[in-house]
Amino acid sequence: MRIAVIGAGLSGLSAALMLREACHNVTIFTHGIGGLPLSNGTLDVLGYRALSGNNAKDLASDDPFASFTELPNTHPYQVIGADNAREGVNWLAEKTGLFEIHGENRLLPSPLGVARPTLGVPKNAAAGILTEGGKYLVVGLRQFKDFPAPLIAANLNRSDVVKVEARAVVLDLPGRAREADTLATDYARHFDGLTSATAGGSAGAAKATGATAGATLRKQFAELINRAVKPGEVVLIPAIMGLQAETFLDFATRVQAPIAEVPTIPASIFGQRTYNALIEACREARIDIRLNCSVRPYRRGRAKVENIYQNGPSPMVNDEVRELVVARAGGTDRVKVDAVIDAAGGFASGNLARDSHLAFHETIFDLPLRPGTAFTSRGSTAALHEIDFEQRTELERTLSTGIAVDSAMRPLDAAGNPVFTNVFCLGEMLGGAHPWLELSGEGIALGSAVAAVKAIAALKGEKI
Ligand SMILES: Cc1cc2nc3c(=O)[nH]c(=O)nc-3n(C[C@H](O)[C@H](O)[C@H](O)COP(=O)(O)OP(=O)(O)OC[C@H]3O[C@@H](n4cnc5c(N)ncnc54)[C@H](O)[C@@H]3O)c2cc1C
Repeated sequence: MRIAVIGAGLSGLSAALMLREACHNVTIFTHGIGGLPLSNGTLDVLGYRALSGNNAKDLASDDPFASFTELPNTHPYQVIGADNAREGVNWLAEKTGLFEIHGENRLLPSPLGVARPTLGVPKNAAAGILTEGGKYLVVGLRQFKDFPAPLIAANLNRSDVVKVEARAVVLDLPGRAREADTLATDYARHFDGLTSATAGGSAGAAKATGATAGATLRKQFAELINRAVKPGEVVLIPAIMGLQAETFLDFATRVQAPIAEVPTIPASIFGQRTYNALIEACREARIDIRLNCSVRPYRRGRAKVENIYQNGPSPMVNDEVRELVVARAGGTDRVKVDAVIDAAGGFASGNLARDSHLAFHETIFDLPLRPGTAFTSRGSTAALHEIDFEQRTELERTLSTGIAVDSAMRPLDAAGNPVFTNVFCLGEMLGGAHPWLELSGEGIALGSAVAAVKAIAALKGEKI
């Protein structure tokens, strides 16, 4: 089948790869690279059920899949199901080799030192899983402002979820001579040895100089840490130790203590590594990726086109999308499709929008949107002023507004009927979830991808 995937976030890239593995002809159309490099870079399935009082009590059960039954009926997990979500998360861990899946939520330090539950732990963060009575040395760098080590240590010490002892040290290590202010990506490239201030002459010589500079920088950083760390402490560094897997592995052998990376505020190197691994896999699978293009608003056809179900007629009497209009630099293309994976994201990517009349819209297919709900309940945050409460819950209602789908991930109208038979909606655009608050974004993205891929196989009468 010719399948168009709209969007190159976690849900679009994953669905594209799964479909390619099932031998479909897949093309990704996207105008940007999606939210992965902005996200925490962990694999969140369900961290919190709701904010209804004491935070510690609101943690999802240790097995987040077991908590799905406690979610509201309108939550996307109710149609995705625990099996698809588990399959999706395991698929990503295996595909990228970047994660450990523990079967139970683990607590990791957030970029600000909150003990944050997640199911899929990046391997480079595994030594930093917060354990009762654990001792941690949080290492900041004077030249890297996006990792406030003293604040992170103070917040870890205040945690009411897990009792730990943390202290901070801020070291002096310019990424490159005279560089006073270095971003996460720049540090990662310096540690990888992909940059060098002194590189000159041939490309080969520059590469060798860069590699040496990277190794020297890793050695200097390890020596500084070894001088600061005390016996029994786990070292927590910002997630800046290279985009290449070998960089962290080499560094870890030089440090005389267990060491883990902690996600930084965006851009997240953890998320960037996942994005790079997925894009590389797409290239190897020879998936056609059209970047910097935009799928134009779709015009509904009047006549129903022929049915593509092979096992008897479809029970639906609604439209199929057979052509997309894609705008790119220099013109527009009309692209014939048999099915569409709509993974164009939510409000953050601009796929969902609110107009000057405060009405919500889905911008490509003009799909019906289900109104959102609040996550925070009254009284749950005693310190919150009434006006702040109203503003906060209004934002929560907005961000959980989205598309309702059936178990095949087809968008539904207000009466609960599929709007299209061959369009499948994934990830961030699904309504009824609060991914950033309940920590469920990756589970929803991957579980909905699995559900859609199975539904597409069913269209052809295949089993996968
Ligand atoms: C800043 C940030 C922080 C987050 N933090 C967390 C967290 O802590 N925990 C958690 O569980 N989840 C978090 N999430 C959510 C989680 O990362 C997403 O749910 C998940 O990555 C799935 O995203 P997606 O692929 O559905 O959409 P996105 O990643 O938003 O990708 C959408 C894609 O569609 C493309 N696109 C949009 N419109 C068009 C069009 N018309 N034509 C072509 N392409 C189009 C975009 O360019 C983009 O590539 C966060 C997301 C963001 C952005």
